[in-house]
Amino acid sequence: MKALQYRTVGSAPEVVTVPDPEPGPGQVLLKVTAAGVCHSDIAVMSWPAESFPYELPLTLGHEGVGTVAALGAGVSGLEEGDSVAVYGPWGCGTCANCAQGKENYCLRADELGIRPPGLGAPGSMAEYLLVDDPRHLVPIDGLDPVATVPLTDAGLTPYHAIKRSLPKLVPGSTAVVIGTGGLGHVAIQLLRAMTAAARVIALDVTEDKLALARTVGAHEAVLSNAEAAAKVRELTGGRGAQAVFDFVGVQPTVETAGAVAAIEGDVTLVGIGGGTLPVGFGATNFEVSVTAPYWGSRGELIEVLDLARAGAVSVHTETFSLDEAPKAYQLLHDGKINGRAVILPNG
Ligand SMILES: [Zn+2]
Ligand SMILES: [Zn+2]
Repeated sequence: MKALQYRTVGSAPEVVTVPDPEPGPGQVLLKVTAAGVCHSDIAVMSWPAESFPYELPLTLGHEGVGTVAALGAGVSGLEEGDSVAVYGPWGCGTCANCAQGKENYCLRADELGIRPPGLGAPGSMAEYLLVDDPRHLVPIDGLDPVATVPLTDAGLTPYHAIKRSLPKLVPGSTAVVIGTGGLGHVAIQLLRAMTAAARVIALDVTEDKLALARTVGAHEAVLSNAEAAAKVRELTGGRGAQAVFDFVGVQPTVETAGAVAAIEGDVTLVGIGGGTLPVGFGATNFEVSVTAPYWGSRGELIEVLDLARAGAVSVHTETFSLDEAPKAYQLLHDGKINGRAVILPNG
């Protein structure tokens, strides 16, 4: 089968032919319908060889939707042809966190060498994807595969982050979303759907992205630059934002995030741009809490798909064939994708 692989540190990913995978006992083989192109893959491909954590070559793609092509021995509850979304942050399934569905925080994944598809294990940018366990699949039940595939990360990750701050996003409060790309433009919609009357202020670096932010529900859209923090303060009558979500995570955006947080506000650093925010008396407003979460739980993915089914979230997508996947990554790298790029490996 064809697969998009990152083969050499520092080189662009390539479409190559690899052996067709076959499901072993307990595994499920999917024919991939759609695979999402995520900015974190670009970060991964920028890491140096000395500290690169995964074996190469690596088939990319940690967002996947497919149809069940074959079931390994002992698998029940699924039928060939079922359309399913992949829950990506695989864990062991049995530790205390996995027992709560929080496989993103599995206590044993490192020890057991369990890696998510596309981030260690072979990913979804291939004609077929091997899934280690049927519990990592959620039926999409009538949802469109292309529109749904980004929800497995670009939906689930902001959903998890927002859920934590919901008690602070009361009517009259403000949420700031920094970076309105793949995750951020979904976050804006989730904030509108999950809060009663919180105001959403979006920050990004181009007018195109700010236009998309307004289209998907941002009340205000502000250019992300050295004046952005002052502008947000002005828009909030000097109070700042009760919740700030940074989907970029580079040093300047992290500093903006810290600077716009209200007293007792939450700052959530989601983007893996490597920026850090010092915490200490006087470094931020009083009692600001800063966190850097990772992905979300199995239960939360089911909730996100239910929100999509209710019409509360729709992802702006641009589709590419598998052969065009390297180009999609280049466009994303250059800031030229509005919303989410989706690869159709069998399209
Ligand atoms: Zn991602
Ligand atoms: Zn576990």
